[in-house]
Amino acid sequence: MTNIVTRFAPSPTGLLHGGNYRTAVFSYLFARKQGGKFIVRIEDTDRERSKKEYEENILESLAWLGLEYDEFHRQSELVANHTKALEYLIAEGNAYISKEEAKDGSGVIREIVRFKNPNKRVMFNDIIRGPIEIDTTDLGDFVIAKNIHEPLFHLAVVVDDATMGVTHIVRGEDHIANTPRQILLHEALGYPIPNYAHLPLVVDEKRAKLSKRRGAQPLTYYRDRGYLPEAILNFLALVGWNPGTEQEIFTKEELVQAFTLERVQKSPGFFNLEKLDWVNKEHIKRLSVEEQCAHIERALPASITTLPGYSHEKLLRITPLLVEHITHFGQITEMAEAGEIAYFFEDPTFPVEQLLWKDERDPVVASEKLQKILTLIGGIDDALFTPETIKASVWDYATEVGRGSVLWPMRYALSGREKSPDPFQLAGILGREATMRRIENAQQRLLS
Ligand code: GLU
Repeated sequence: MTNIVTRFAPSPTGLLHGGNYRTAVFSYLFARKQGGKFIVRIEDTDRERSKKEYEENILESLAWLGLEYDEFHRQSELVANHTKALEYLIAEGNAYISKEEAKDGSGVIREIVRFKNPNKRVMFNDIIRGPIEIDTTDLGDFVIAKNIHEPLFHLAVVVDDATMGVTHIVRGEDHIANTPRQILLHEALGYPIPNYAHLPLVVDEKRAKLSKRRGAQPLTYYRDRGYLPEAILNFLALVGWNPGTEQEIFTKEELVQAFTLERVQKSPGFFNLEKLDWVNKEHIKRLSVEEQCAHIERALPASITTLPGYSHEKLLRITPLLVEHITHFGQITEMAEAGEIAYFFEDPTFPVEQLLWKDERDPVVASEKLQKILTLIGGIDDALFTPETIKASVWDYATEVGRGSVLWPMRYALSGREKSPDPFQLAGILGREATMRRIENAQQRLLS
């Protein structure tokens, strides 16, 4: 292990969205690449707004993404350190207690702690943005604690970062303005100044900053919709970073190897949902059929998995077909609810007129066509009953009398749906017995 230490320091005051987790991803990848330490620190000193459920959601999300941490802290449990630092600053003449009237108009006088601003220019060399120089004079003697036992944000962050030996602060660029204040505090407390890497903004398709108010979803939303964690990790890593090569699909290990803060861009990173779907699909394709099937099985509602004709083995056979139609596994649930899956496992029910092709309204004619199909495919052996052999036996006849008028009733008899896979694929999956039975039933119904 090197002495490199990064941290992710979220405030548990709401459900964090993908843009927030992008910060965790970069911080994590940098630490792992460097063989350093990744710390998670929950910044819960705002007691009114911090909630346990948000903290739990953060930890669940990090675990799901696979961002394991080496240390965990809760800022509210570290207040004794903050108080000590405040006392030290006051003793050294770098902070003072100021009796001031509360801003709420109550007239109450409180003893807040202000930092004695040396009023100077602060310079730091941001790893991503280069040298940044800010004059702190305008900041005045800023408040660092509500009282000696209630530190405010800047003081708590600085004391915690120094105590935890954080060497690299990787965080959103909205914190650039906070950095001079924090550097002044580091200096006054005699701490080393950490390295800073301020990440570019994350924006949506309309180039607006990603925010909950504008509909950005919490990360667990994507988990619950059946996105793969390795795909989300891959996608988030590409929001504001690229490896400088054509490669876009990465495993976690490949990301760790490829990641550098130097290649993080200055311009905003796009949180593009179409790209997310593409990346997710690419990761789905890389799973084995067994793994894909397991995901599909989890997404299927009980109304499907409890059908008498349902079996894992059958699902495995239709898995490649289902995978073609989705970008994330939540769509399997939607397909099932829309009736697009049940017919694989049970004979469909539908109004008989649906079997009639366009203006061919004579049921006897349609029945004859189904009868002919039965004859043609009836001769195929069980073991040879594949989409290819079925197609080979029906195709010439269908071409001769009109494809629609043959393939439409065939497909409808098999699926009972206007939209479904082509009849050959469907028949191959259903197998000889179910295919014959369904076509026979339809043919009989046309005659009754
Ligand atoms: N707790 C701060 C936030 O959630 C982050 C502090 C930091 O990264 O320095 O915005």
